[in-house]
Amino acid sequence: MTNKEKSAELVSKYVHVLSCPLCNSPLMVSNLKSLVCLNKHTFDFAKQGYVNMMTRSTNSHYDKNLFEARNQIIIESNLYVLLHEKISEVINENMNPSNDEIIILDAGCGEGSHLQRILDDCKNKTFSGVGLDISKEGIRKAASHYKKSIWLVGDLANSPLADQSCQVILNILSPANYKDFKRILVPDGLIVKVVPRSNYLKELREALFDDTDKKDYKNDETVSLFKQNFHLANIFNLSYARELNQTELTNLVQMSPLAWNSKKDDIDQFINQGFSEITVDLDILVGVNKQTKGDE
Ligand SMILES: [Zn+2]
Repeated sequence: MTNKEKSAELVSKYVHVLSCPLCNSPLMVSNLKSLVCLNKHTFDFAKQGYVNMMTRSTNSHYDKNLFEARNQIIIESNLYVLLHEKISEVINENMNPSNDEIIILDAGCGEGSHLQRILDDCKNKTFSGVGLDISKEGIRKAASHYKKSIWLVGDLANSPLADQSCQVILNILSPANYKDFKRILVPDGLIVKVVPRSNYLKELREALFDDTDKKDYKNDETVSLFKQNFHLANIFNLSYARELNQTELTNLVQMSPLAWNSKKDDIDQFINQGFSEITVDLDILVGVNKQTKGDE
């Protein structure tokens, strides 16, 4: 069986979770080759096993190198290990273990490593991962590395997920679409959003940016918007530093869009220091999809 057929078989088991992004009708897997909706809109499985469900063309300039670097930082350097542990703890505490199917969507999953690590840490066989990202390069890499989850190229504003199909949505250092998140989450479903705090990757930012640009910022507005959409159950602040070596610092620069416009001299100097402590400083917002009075 090819990778493509194996993925199609996996998707067949969870096809009720998906819906056509063009007409919102249910989909079915046809001949282990494509997803087809009631109106015959067709989305083919790629040979790596993902499905492209974008309904418009995009020009994402996030390239292969960025995702390779990100994969190295997450999987090899373990820079986010405490984040993964915390999120899996939150999920395990909030999910009913007797529920025989729990879908965890990573909205804006990039190359999929955060989702994979979190699923590994959860150690629960009833959890199934779905990764969604607008970047084909990211999803292609995710599908090549991680065979147990479903990988979809798609639009967060019009995601190919059915209404009330997900028990958990992860949104890690990535833009959100709360309207669509509320649609696809089950009632009382969990949303875990991770946002940077002012010291996040400060060593990188200090090296590559003018000091005058630097200012402390707070996540008040983000939290306030989040609270307008979900019941805020908890906020965790996670702050720690890890030492990265030269190769890891190179990867860190490559995975950071904020570094792309920096001067080459500044980048070289940052990388050539050999070792550096790198600070991870994040807020983890945990929300519950409460039905508001108006929805009842
Ligand atoms: Zn359709």
